[in-house]
Amino acid sequence: MIITQKKPIEEVMAMVGDAKTVAIVGCNSCATACQTGGQPQIDELTKVLEAAGKKVVATTICDYCCMNLGVKSKMKAINAANPDVVVCMSCGDGVQCVAKNANNKPVYPSNNTMYLGEAVRFGVWEESCRFCGQCVLGSTGAICPITQCAKSLVNGPCGGQKNGKCEVNPENPCAWIKIYERLNATGELDKLSKTREDKGYGDFAYPRTISLRGK
Ligand code: SF4
Ligand code: SF4
Repeated sequence: MIITQKKPIEEVMAMVGDAKTVAIVGCNSCATACQTGGQPQIDELTKVLEAAGKKVVATTICDYCCMNLGVKSKMKAINAANPDVVVCMSCGDGVQCVAKNANNKPVYPSNNTMYLGEAVRFGVWEESCRFCGQCVLGSTGAICPITQCAKSLVNGPCGGQKNGKCEVNPENPCAWIKIYERLNATGELDKLSKTREDKGYGDFAYPRTISLRGK
């Protein structure tokens, strides 16, 4: 899931500025799970805005703020309320999708978008993928070296580990020791002797679009 964190409320209020009326859009997917964009967070932000003299004229929760069709439908009620500004409590992707459907009203993010991560237990999310676009998990024991190695090394360790811990982030295990142990357990140590290609980050031209409909 996309992991988000709340921005400091002062930053949100600075964006809202002198606006008198505000609408709030939450997201029923990742942001709800991260407790940054569900109904409790909408209620909390509503109280803060109203305490500051703003009028919250409409709120809604999209199933996924990153899915244009659903957002378009939910934004009808928001646009009908004609707010001065909209605060979107989703990831950055959702904020951009909501803004496209906000009748040219300013749309402000209440969250910082952190990473693609795994919910390892309630309230704890570990970073797991950086969307590199050239996944190497098939040769690394399904442990991501781009994300879990502090130097994003794809062809083995830097040699700086101490007692199995990363030299850059000593609280973390060395990713390449984990990869070795996983490949050993799965009987795939031969994969360590194969060189992985340079990631070729320069090959991308942003923004990328993936379509199943052809051109
Ligand atoms: S190698 Fe890592 S960063 Fe790249 S796509 Fe796979 S999991 Fe994501
Ligand atoms: S100690 Fe391990 S995880 Fe840390 S930078 Fe070196 S190879 Fe990567």
